[in-house]
Amino acid sequence: MIPSDCLTTSCSALIIAHPGHEIRVHGWLELARPFVFVLTDGSGHSGKSRLDSTTKVLKKVNAKQGNIYGRFSDKQVYAAILNRDFDLFIRLTEELVDILTQLRVELVIGDAVEGYNPSHDICRLIINAAVEILLKRGHKIDFC
Ligand SMILES: [Zn+2]
Repeated sequence: MIPSDCLTTSCSALIIAHPGHEIRVHGWLELARPFVFVLTDGSGHSGKSRLDSTTKVLKKVNAKQGNIYGRFSDKQVYAAILNRDFDLFIRLTEELVDILTQLRVELVIGDAVEGYNPSHDICRLIINAAVEILLKRGHKIDFC
């Protein structure tokens, strides 16, 4: 649930692990028209990307694709976790910090930790780390 004071902002970002998660906040998507970052292509076990459906939704509501958009498969994320490839996630966080800074994003909304799907949990960890770095650098940014 998005707090009422987070409904709209001059510049916001939605950061999600998989295509399709944007539907969970469709009303807000229409209001805020955020930059949308999607970590994976949603291919899961099928190997078939689900990004096209998200792209159609974003076009319909006039939201914008972020620079990170279906960059990984879930298999790649799982392999990075199992191989303790922390650098991949650190680089991704640093890239996100740079992008959010350039875009002057003031509100970030994204997936929650649920302890079930590793990509969802990684997404939240990256959001929290990026926001913490931005706050320490003096940026005005809110998140939920
Ligand atoms: Zn998902």
